[in-house]
Amino acid sequence: MTRRTVIGAALLTPAAAFDDVKSTQTFRALLKSMEAVSAIDTHTHLRPNAEFAEEETERGRGINLAAIWNNSYVRRLVDLPRWQAGQTFTAWWGAAKPVFEQVRAASVYRYLLPAFQDLYKVDFDTLSGEQAARLDERIFSNYSTENRAKWIREVVTGHAHIELMLVDSYWGRLDLKSDYPFTVPVLNVTTLMGASHPSRNPQPADNPFAFAKQNGLPVATLDQYLAVVERLFQKAIEAGAVCLKTTSAYSRDLRFAKVSRERAAEAFGKEPATVPADQQRAFEDFMFWEICHLSAQYDLPFQIHTGDARIQGSNPILLVDAIEANPQTKFILFHGGYPWVGETGAIAMKHHNVWIDSNWLATLSYSMAKRAYQEWLEAVPSTRILWGSDSPTAETIYGSAVTLRRCLAEALAEKVVRGELRQQDAMRIGRQILRENALALFPRLQQKLWRKPGE
Ligand SMILES: [Zn+2]
Repeated sequence: MTRRTVIGAALLTPAAAFDDVKSTQTFRALLKSMEAVSAIDTHTHLRPNAEFAEEETERGRGINLAAIWNNSYVRRLVDLPRWQAGQTFTAWWGAAKPVFEQVRAASVYRYLLPAFQDLYKVDFDTLSGEQAARLDERIFSNYSTENRAKWIREVVTGHAHIELMLVDSYWGRLDLKSDYPFTVPVLNVTTLMGASHPSRNPQPADNPFAFAKQNGLPVATLDQYLAVVERLFQKAIEAGAVCLKTTSAYSRDLRFAKVSRERAAEAFGKEPATVPADQQRAFEDFMFWEICHLSAQYDLPFQIHTGDARIQGSNPILLVDAIEANPQTKFILFHGGYPWVGETGAIAMKHHNVWIDSNWLATLSYSMAKRAYQEWLEAVPSTRILWGSDSPTAETIYGSAVTLRRCLAEALAEKVVRGELRQQDAMRIGRQILRENALALFPRLQQKLWRKPGE
């Protein structure tokens, strides 16, 4: 053996082991323990059985391969062709395949691969035209009227090993229905924050004025409007909702100023066209703080979309004044604040009424999520980190769940291999993030658990 080979071996062996922690026994043991956890998914968009966005296919209306991808996050990166009514599968695949070639390394593409691999036994990266057509056929059959509910249940509760999921039904925010035995409603307050006039929300299921009318409640003044909002909180509790959610980061920035009731009343009841932008903004700011108070009063923790959305105004740092001034409100910063994962950790470190929900993060960037878990665990108690799939179909929920378990196992395994964490503590942290933290934060979930211990 030459001196050069010896040096090469000495340098390569530890480096190789470190570079791919997935090849270690530690990673495999952690992944196995996480697969055994019956997860609580704190954020999904699983639609009711009858309300899936179906396509007009050669076999009739239904869910096909194009529908699965178009309900994934790949369209955030590339213009994947939408399904045209009546087109052939071959035509769609011919147009779609070159687009998939552009995103082979992207997390928004790769997170769905485990669904095809494990549920359909195909490798999407190398799929032939015939295999793609067969996959399309099998997806269509799984979502047929007779199979759909069974397929969703089998994938979500069986393959993805999820026990309960919190559904943000943005297609009917104030409906508060629970559509599956394993789903729990969330009160989406986004439209409540902006409803200075009935015409701001044309959809009755999003419109607090429509709710007021149905329930015979007057709503001519701001005070009466606030009473209607409170009545909606009571309805949410009665319906079994366990938290609030807002996605206002899609329509404005997250800096919510403290505004007087008089200032908020200026916009109330006025036609939108007659309300200056700063007046409407003041109304929204006031409502955000009102909802923070009600969140504490009704013990409905507040899930807030942070990061991404309107990227220029969604940094969670913008929420810190409101977080500090409302210590009784439990704030849940969504998506780990992507891309501001470090800022999100710093906020949770300083403010003990803050939880970090990592839903969507590993789907947007696997590497950033892995780094974020490591940084957060160094700066925040492991009891204040959560997970959700943020997905609408069985396949995307499965892909998110597998991706999360792998990412978390990889993040924790690196810490164990480096000697920064004991393996049994890493396993406990996995159980906390996947399940126990959600049960502690939303104690009303306890009564909805249905799986027998050890299942
Ligand atoms: Zn979402």
